[in-house]
Amino acid sequence: MTSIDEFRSKAIPDGYYSDLTAELEKLNGQLNAFNGINRLLDSGYPFSVKDNICVKGVETTASSKILSGYVPPFSATVVDRMVEGGFGFLGKTNMDEFGFGTFGINSERIARNPFNSEYVAGGSSSGAAIATSLLRYHVAVSESTGGSISAPAAFCGVVGFTPTYGLLSRYGLIDYANSLDKIGIMARSASDIRYAFDVMRGQDDYDTTCVSTTPTSERKSRIVVITQLLDGCDKAVVSSFEKLLDRLRNSGYRIDYVDVDFITSAIQAYYIISMAESSTNLAKFTGFKYGYKLDRFIEPYNEFFTEARDVFGPEAKRRIILGTLVRSASVRNRYYSKALKVRTMLINKLKGLLKEAFILSPTMPILTPKVSEAKELSPVHAYAMDAMTIPPNICGFPHISFPYDYVGGMPLGAQIISDHFNDYAVMDFVSEWEKGFDYRFKYNLGAL
Ligand code: GLN
Repeated sequence: MTSIDEFRSKAIPDGYYSDLTAELEKLNGQLNAFNGINRLLDSGYPFSVKDNICVKGVETTASSKILSGYVPPFSATVVDRMVEGGFGFLGKTNMDEFGFGTFGINSERIARNPFNSEYVAGGSSSGAAIATSLLRYHVAVSESTGGSISAPAAFCGVVGFTPTYGLLSRYGLIDYANSLDKIGIMARSASDIRYAFDVMRGQDDYDTTCVSTTPTSERKSRIVVITQLLDGCDKAVVSSFEKLLDRLRNSGYRIDYVDVDFITSAIQAYYIISMAESSTNLAKFTGFKYGYKLDRFIEPYNEFFTEARDVFGPEAKRRIILGTLVRSASVRNRYYSKALKVRTMLINKLKGLLKEAFILSPTMPILTPKVSEAKELSPVHAYAMDAMTIPPNICGFPHISFPYDYVGGMPLGAQIISDHFNDYAVMDFVSEWEKGFDYRFKYNLGAL
C-alpha cells in the first residue's frame, strides 16, 4: 500500500495540519527546508513544491533575490493536477538559486542535512529532499536539470525520481535550461512516487514538449556499471557500492563492467549547454517586470541593468558570463556546437547499453561533505561532483536515486537508469529493492 492510500484510510485528528506546520516551522529555522510554509493547509495528502515552480498567489522566487516579491497569477500544470488529485499544498521548498548548484549552499539560506546539520543537504532541490526526510506523509514536486533531484535525494536518504524528458509538463516552471529541465518527484518509497507521477503526467496544451506517451515497465536482468564513473569515486563510496552489487548478484542480476571512455566529457558538454541556455533565460530578469524592482530609473540603460542585475548571486553571475561567451558567434563552433555533438554521441552509446540492461552507479562520488567543506570547493571541483548525475540528465533518461547504505550515520545513494520511456522499470527496480532494505529517517513528523 502506498503511504498516500494509508494516510487516506486513517482518521485525521483535529489540529493535525496546524500542529504539523508549527513543528515544521520550528525545524525550518535550523534546516532551511522551506522558503514558505502554507499555514492554511487543512486537507489533503501534503505535497511540497520546489520554489522554481509556480503556485498561484504564492511567492515564487527560485531562491533568488531578483525574484523576491514575485507572486505568479497562475499555477504550474503539475501543481494544478496534484491539487485536483486531492493533494494539499504544504509549501515552497528551498533550492540553490535558479537551480545552480549541487550542495544547497548557493541559496541565501543554506540548506542543512536532516541527519546532521553540519552537513550539506545536496542541491539544487535541497528543501524537497529535507522535507521528504522530515515528514512521514509527504511527496515533493521537484526539478532536475543535471542532477538536482538525485544529488539531494542521495545526501538526505530519500528516493528521488527524474522522469524521461517530456513526460511531465514544464508549464509554470521557471526555466533553468529548457532542453534539460525535468520536473520530478521525491518521496520515501518508489510506490509513492509512482502514484504522484500518474497524477501529474499526460499531455499538456501549454507545453509543446510534453508528450502523452505511456511509460513502459520492461525489467532488465542485466546491470551495466561504467568503469570510468567508478574510477572517479572515493574509496569509501566504491567499497559500499561493491557490496550493493554483491547483493544484486545474489538476487539474480548479472553485473557487467563496461568502458565508456568519453563519458567524462559529459560534464563539460552539460555545463556548456546548460550555461548557454540559462544565460538567455536569465536575460528577462532586469529589475523591470518580475519580482525585484529598482525604483530609481537611471540613464543610460546599461547602468540601470547593471545595478539591478547585481542582486544575482555569484554562481548565477558566473553562468550569465560564461553562457553568453559560449554561444557568441566567434566561439560557438569551438564550444557549444561540440557540446551538442558530445550529447548526441552519449545518447547513442548509452541507448545501446540500455536496450539490454539498466545502468547503475553511486549517485555521488563522495560521502556527504560538511557545509564548510563544500564551500571550499572551486567551481570546477563542484561541477565534477555531478559526474554520475549528468549522463542520464543530459540524455533525458529516466533515473532514480535510492538509499542503499549508511556510513557514519549518513545515507548513501545509488542511481539506476533506464531507457527513454521505460520509467516504470526503474520504479519497479527500487520497489523490489525496498522489500529487502529498510530506509532510516531521523524524523517522522506527522506520523499517525
Ligand atoms: N549541479 C548542476 C548544476 O549546477 C545540476 C543542477 C540542477 O539539476 N538544477 O547545474
